Amino acid sequence: MNLYHELKEIAWLSNLEIPKLGLAIYTFGNVSAFDKDKGVFAIKPSGVTYDKLELDDMVVVDLDYKIVEGKLRPSSDTKTHAVLYKQFKDIGGIAHTHSTYAVAWAQAIKSIPIFGTTHADHLQHDIPCTEVMSEEMIHGAYEEETGNQIVKTFEHLSYKEIEMVLVACHGPFTWGATAEKAVYNSAVLEELAKMGYLTLQINSQTPRLSSALIDKHYQRKHGPEAYYGQS
Ligand SMILES: [Zn+2]
Repeated sequence: MNLYHELKEIAWLSNLEIPKLGLAIYTFGNVSAFDKDKGVFAIKPSGVTYDKLELDDMVVVDLDYKIVEGKLRPSSDTKTHAVLYKQFKDIGGIAHTHSTYAVAWAQAIKSIPIFGTTHADHLQHDIPCTEVMSEEMIHGAYEEETGNQIVKTFEHLSYKEIEMVLVACHGPFTWGATAEKAVYNSAVLEELAKMGYLTLQINSQTPRLSSALIDKHYQRKHGPEAYYGQS
């Protein structure tokens, strides 16, 4: 069997989840799956619609952007993925979508405040938005700079605690231990973005969730004494 078959299959199936979850239409968005030992990731090819996407269309790329396997050109966001795999050492998958509510917050250049317990069930922090890119960065190595902007945003934040970000004026990137988790985080982010938006429509002065409730909800699901779900 092909050396990268499994990695390509994970990436392919994860990409197919994106339209199924209503997170992107046509060719918008992309997911990659990383093999840390081999130092390569499999990613969606550029400009191929999800309904036409085949397992063998997946492109395997190393962290120097070199194509290791595949006939098609990789996603135009490939360098952003590579920067994140290089800097966020423990992640195994990345998803990028143009889901509506998350994009709306990104375009408004606003972090998503933690307003309620749905948010706190997943993370204890606001979902950060990067700074706007300078013209120099846009005219330079744009896709790498997108990755650099994300990394800079996490200078004082933990990428393990916050597995999602809004790239200003653009849209969301999410990650996780696996590509499946990255896609899951994209769906969660879209839902939190929608709830946050609606909350502010009802009351534009809504306060952030109290730290007692943030702690309670996060810890009961993720803490050492977690009791949420079946185990
Ligand atoms: Zn994009």
